[in-house]
Amino acid sequence: MKTAVFVEKNPLTNRLRDVSMELSWKAHSLMEAHQGEVVGLFVGDRLPEDTERLFHYGMDRLVQFTDPKLDHLYSIAFKHVLKAMIESEEPDFVLFGATHTGRDVAPLVASAMKTGLTADCTQLYVDDFKESGKILYQVRPAFGGNILATIVTPDHRPIMSTVREGVMRLPEHVLDRKPNISTFTAEVRQEWIRSEFLATIAKASGVNFQAANTVVSGGAGVGSRDNFKLIFDLAHALGAEVGASRAAVDFGFVDKERQIGQTGSVVRPKLYIACGISGSVQHRAGMEESSKIIAINTDPDAPIFHIAHMGIVGDLKEVIPTMIKYLKEEAQ
Ligand SMILES: Cc1cc2nc3c(=O)[nH]c(=O)nc-3n(C[C@H](O)[C@H](O)[C@H](O)COP(=O)(O)OP(=O)(O)OC[C@H]3O[C@@H](n4cnc5c(N)ncnc54)[C@H](O)[C@@H]3O)c2cc1C
Repeated sequence: MKTAVFVEKNPLTNRLRDVSMELSWKAHSLMEAHQGEVVGLFVGDRLPEDTERLFHYGMDRLVQFTDPKLDHLYSIAFKHVLKAMIESEEPDFVLFGATHTGRDVAPLVASAMKTGLTADCTQLYVDDFKESGKILYQVRPAFGGNILATIVTPDHRPIMSTVREGVMRLPEHVLDRKPNISTFTAEVRQEWIRSEFLATIAKASGVNFQAANTVVSGGAGVGSRDNFKLIFDLAHALGAEVGASRAAVDFGFVDKERQIGQTGSVVRPKLYIACGISGSVQHRAGMEESSKIIAINTDPDAPIFHIAHMGIVGDLKEVIPTMIKYLKEEAQ
């Protein structure tokens, strides 16, 4: 049995995207139980400078195709090269990050391979399915996140999935493995490179959920963009990152890049403080695996209290200033 992982880098930093490590580790845990292999597929102008990290996260082998012409995402060229790689490697399953690149390339490859693709999976496991033998069970939210659907592709190979960054966990300890990299040969036709990159603009986003031990999030209950300053103040006092529910984003209290949940970022901080957030399934999908959750809500029956380790029933406009005052006194 074999699982292939599409390896992706940030072209601005030439370093691996975290999702490539997360998928490598997930594939490793899936394959370990079935004596299977994890092979990475890289397409681009040059390997990321931290490629060896893939092997620390369970990759057995990396197949690389590099061509200076592929210094950006050229979807059609990537599709042709990846299809050729997959035909050569014959993996049972192929995993892509649900990044901009993955969302672009994975459907093209799946269509070219005449196989199924399940987007935004939140769980993956291998098990028997009727006469098809071992297949990949792909779990993802459906019907607006109100149910979890398990999707199977019994008749076509490879079975292909995308997974968003942050959904699969990384281990506490990495493996001591040496890189094992081979080169794939293919021709890149000029007609596959149909776009021209005029400039690359690095958007300077100050939001870094990955590095944050604590996330303080505000929801519709915060009430206004002005009130949302309270969320920033509490986050500042705790050295935390600021998150938000989709309702808070839709109301214009904060920018979309701070949204947490099914269609936002997935976070797993040591401490998550949900302020004026009801706790919809879509919001929980992005934060419920936080180590400790504190909820502040005026409604004692708010669903967020079902998953909170600690709950404060009260008006956040009174509770948060009290918390900040206490934190400042403690710091003196
Ligand atoms: C396909 C799909 C994808 C979605 N993706 C996401 C997603 O990624 N992230 C996300 O968050 N949502 C997402 N949603 C929206 C989601 O269904 C909810 O609408 C949203 O999470 C509600 O946000 P909220 O909890 O801030 O608002 P509400 O549900 O309106 O809750 C506000 C809460 O604030 C409390 N409150 C009011 N005033 C105060 C006060 N003064 N002090 C304290 N508490 C107060 C209320 O009691 C209430 O519980 C998605 C929906 C769909 C259909």
